[in-house]
Amino acid sequence: MSDVLTPEQRSYCMSQIKGKNTKSEVALRKALWSLGYRYRIRNRLPGRPDLVFKSFRTVIFIDGCFWHKCSDHFVQPKTRTEFWMNKINGNVARDHSNNEALKSEGWQVIRIWEHEIKASLEDSVARVVEVLEEQRNVLYLKDC
Ligand SMILES: [Zn+2]
Repeated sequence: MSDVLTPEQRSYCMSQIKGKNTKSEVALRKALWSLGYRYRIRNRLPGRPDLVFKSFRTVIFIDGCFWHKCSDHFVQPKTRTEFWMNKINGNVARDHSNNEALKSEGWQVIRIWEHEIKASLEDSVARVVEVLEEQRNVLYLKDC
């Protein structure tokens, strides 16, 4: 993508690449780890979730507002609009099909907008913990 991006777009793009550890992602991860929840980051599940809680059969995606078209913050790019919209609409379509694929394999899928974490890490953590604890009951997990 050498000539299609302005420097600003490029640096934004780079910061959003999977596995690049955005600030929000790291913050959420650390908080959950400190509460004793263990997860994996590397995985080959559909869509490569950001966090995988294997024993809880739960995955988390942290979605950037631009790349996943958050309805509160997404702004249509003014240049190369078609290129960007194709790309972004492709992401959104893939998000849906990945959700379905994961659910059909019995995974609980949590999607968190990056803006939610920025607004309140605590609320985001609480939302995740609620699902994990529900899964603990459903799956009869003792301690993990
Ligand atoms: Zn947003």
